[in-house]
Amino acid sequence: MIKIIRATPNPLTLMGIVASTCWNSTPSPQIGINCIESGHGRVLEYPDVIVEIDGYSARMIRELYTKIVGVTRLQASTRYIQYGEFEYYIPESVKNNNKALDIYENLMQHISTAYLQLEELGIPKQDTANVLPLAMHSKVVLKINARGIIEMALTRLCNRALKEYRDFMIELINVIGNIDGEWKKIVSYAKPKCEVYGYCNEKNSCKGDDN
Ligand SMILES: Cc1cc2nc3c(=O)[nH]c(=O)nc-3n(C[C@H](O)[C@H](O)[C@H](O)COP(=O)(O)OP(=O)(O)OC[C@H]3O[C@@H](n4cnc5c(N)ncnc54)[C@H](O)[C@@H]3O)c2cc1C
Repeated sequence: MIKIIRATPNPLTLMGIVASTCWNSTPSPQIGINCIESGHGRVLEYPDVIVEIDGYSARMIRELYTKIVGVTRLQASTRYIQYGEFEYYIPESVKNNNKALDIYENLMQHISTAYLQLEELGIPKQDTANVLPLAMHSKVVLKINARGIIEMALTRLCNRALKEYRDFMIELINVIGNIDGEWKKIVSYAKPKCEVYGYCNEKNSCKGDDN
């Protein structure tokens, strides 16, 4: 559900080239790695990826939008696209409970029917869209640099983060890691903050429990 549209080729090589300017040294991917490990974050802003995100809820995307540094986004419009038959997110807790699943799916069907009825009455899409649920899947094109990926993982791989966002973060890391060996090395630094700091600074710590 995450598709690479474009990615900087050989990102560590690029980081080595730009960083070597600072010291007038011979460029190498190892210089890129040294910059990550030394916390020279600006160097990580040169390589980036553009991904198409589909199959995640508008609620998760709403949280994605709180990340404002190192990212650019475009989102599918609810004014121009017809959402009569929308797809939606179902949490595991609901999936695993037949009665809850029934209530959940009935509500989504009800919303879908209401959307279509309003449309039949000639209500414009931008107004009809107000009935759509946060669980509805929404498509986004995200551009994010290597620094943004590593920073986002600090909080969003945390067990305290929204489960769907954690799932998204894991998928993002996997998809980017499959681009090439240099991206794989970069995303190996994308870890939750407890692993990076060596301790947890969340007031309500999970204490290692993946709720
Ligand atoms: C468990 C959890 C619960 C959350 N609950 C809520 C919630 O209830 N409501 C809510 O609205 N959000 C919530 N959030 C989102 C959170 O508050 C942040 O908005 C989100 O994590 C993105 O912010 P960021 O600093 O990580 O990233 P970015 O905004 O991309 O910032 C990256 C880094 O850039 C620097 N920076 C960014 N902006 C500035 C600035 N203006 N000035 C100076 N330096 C800056 C900081 O060093 C920052 O760490 C939650 C997040 C988590 C993980």
